[in-house]
Amino acid sequence: MADFGIKEALATLGLQEINEGTSIGSVNFSNGEIIESYSPVDGKLIGKVKASTKEDYEKVMDAATSAFKTWRTMPAPQRGEIVRQFGNKLRELKEPLGKLVSYEMGKSYQEGLGEVQEMIDICDFAVGLSRQLNGQVIPSERPEHVMREQWHPIGVVGIISAFNFPVAVWAWNTALAWICGNVCVWKGSEKAPLCSVACQNIIAEVLKDNNLPEGISCIVNGDYKVGEYLTEDTRIPLVSATGSTRMGRIVGAKVAERFGKSLLELGGNNAIIITPTADLKVVVPGAVFGAVGTCGQRCTSTRRLIIHESVYDKVRDAIVGAYGQIKIGNPLDENNHVGPLIDKDSVNTYLAAIEKAKAEGGNVLVEGGVLEGEGYESGCYVKPAIIEAENHFEIVQHETFAPILYLMKYSGEVENAIELQNGVAQGLSSSIMTSEMKEAEKFLSFAGSDCGIANVNIGTSGAEIGGAFGGEKETGGGRESGSDAWKVYMRRQTNTVNYSDELPLAQGIKFDL
Ligand code: NAD
Repeated sequence: MADFGIKEALATLGLQEINEGTSIGSVNFSNGEIIESYSPVDGKLIGKVKASTKEDYEKVMDAATSAFKTWRTMPAPQRGEIVRQFGNKLRELKEPLGKLVSYEMGKSYQEGLGEVQEMIDICDFAVGLSRQLNGQVIPSERPEHVMREQWHPIGVVGIISAFNFPVAVWAWNTALAWICGNVCVWKGSEKAPLCSVACQNIIAEVLKDNNLPEGISCIVNGDYKVGEYLTEDTRIPLVSATGSTRMGRIVGAKVAERFGKSLLELGGNNAIIITPTADLKVVVPGAVFGAVGTCGQRCTSTRRLIIHESVYDKVRDAIVGAYGQIKIGNPLDENNHVGPLIDKDSVNTYLAAIEKAKAEGGNVLVEGGVLEGEGYESGCYVKPAIIEAENHFEIVQHETFAPILYLMKYSGEVENAIELQNGVAQGLSSSIMTSEMKEAEKFLSFAGSDCGIANVNIGTSGAEIGGAFGGEKETGGGRESGSDAWKVYMRRQTNTVNYSDELPLAQGIKFDL
């Protein structure tokens, strides 16, 4: 099989056969077990990463807490300059890093490049923001007093990330956290450990070139047990965790127990409402990319289509027809639309979900199944499936991280569709396809979609830097990557300054001595 330039990409990113999974800037070490990273693309071993032990973690925390004391004294725009240099390094390395993402995680090369582009975009956003970490001046009721609000760096930010965006989610967090004056300790996914080593190699060079303390960027590697070092550590005031709702429930509780803050970005169960006036030219690519892109492994993947009964047959036939055109195969080959699932466990979850949907009364329109034979040796390639189902089915209420699309009908007014759309425990992304202004506005109103993301005439999938990203309910409530999301990475302080010769108390309280 063609190599697609993988060996060269790994070498350019400074990856070795065995890599140290603990790193303080460019100082790499690790004493834990070996994690082997196999590609879901061809089943081959890509490389090994040594996991972090508790002792390794302690060294990281010593370096991070000490680096924070220096980094926070640097003016924010100068911190922005470091992030600008990091963004430029990413521009240089976009292709090899995009390739590694595609090969280690299994998403298409185009999506791998897109993920690196998101890193570059968040760096640009952060650079501008580094001159805008503004507080407010608040009118005081007391004469010759001034009240104001300041935003200070929070400290060491812990980042725990999922396998499906193995590089961008780190950058979303870290670029903002850095300009805010924080240092970061990142535990990437144990399913894509080489991506975290590659990213660390890139930032380490920038820190070194600028003679900055290496502890500004640290990584640890390993499974949830290493994640627990972060969630239990009172030296980490903010843990940003991206992953399943199951993980978020545990992490959120652990961090709250010690009065830490958590930023949770968890699972979705995203729907597109297709109304009678929807434009099929937009619906079909929007729904199909949303459902099968990244092999259904995006938190914003489209899981449900809620279609008005008057256009149901037409829409169903168009979507089923489009599924016939999908090419499944090596994601590095740009002729393919859909690559593999991350691993065989995921394949089993996908198969079980299809069986469950059938058992609950679902009607399979496009059969799923595992692909075998040449090019599919990893055992992780599956066929995107379409099933007619009802919203209340237990399986439909859950996020299955795989390309299974549920179709359902609504009748009457758009409010009925919105009720179905909101009738799940998750609240990440949603969209409506309509040419009716009133329907669109209802969907976006307080009585409309209950999700963190609500779109009109585009699909549910994907995000653009600049808008706050995240969702409600079991999606965890966190927001990152845009708008005023930076505030979560800082601590707010209210100051009152008296420049008079008196000491008047607020609310006119008298206290005469
Ligand atoms: P996962 O929950 O299995 O793991 C995510 C990360 O959490 C990993 O690094 C893992 O090691 C760590 N972890 C797990 N349990 C932990 C614990 N008890 N303490 C500390 N760390 C722990 O998720 P995954 O399979 O890697 O990713 C898929 C999930 O992530 C999906 O549910 C998807 O919707 C979600 N996701 C959400 C967003 C978002 O922004 N909302 C983005 C990407 C992925």
